[in-house]
Amino acid sequence: MSERSGPSGEPTTTASKPGKKKIPGVISIDGERCKGCGYCVAFCPLGVLAMAVRFNSKGYHYPEVIDAEKCSGCDLCGMYCPDFAIHGSRDNRSGKSEESETE
Ligand code: SF4
Ligand code: SF4
Repeated sequence: MSERSGPSGEPTTTASKPGKKKIPGVISIDGERCKGCGYCVAFCPLGVLAMAVRFNSKGYHYPEVIDAEKCSGCDLCGMYCPDFAIHGSRDNRSGKSEESETE
């Protein structure tokens, strides 16, 4: 009885569009620059990061990647980091860029 249906009665689906390939994100972390504020972990929208149990040489916990597959490369972590210790980017090496090529 709880089955969902669209406006015309047909079942709805949340499947992704075929042919739209996800570009993986790449995260680089310089643990020695980190001051352990945790902003990157708090603001990552996809739960990719967590604070490590280990300390850097200054005695701060630094972030580590716990679910790399989820990263979109949005770089919110990098934008919030006050110490430029983390950076996210999109890995375009796996294929063509999202935009169609010009020329
Ligand atoms: S690039 Fe975006 S998705 Fe990846 S770890 Fe940083 S905030 Fe999270
Ligand atoms: S935002 Fe920067 S300084 Fe703060 S925990 Fe993350 S990497 Fe470290």
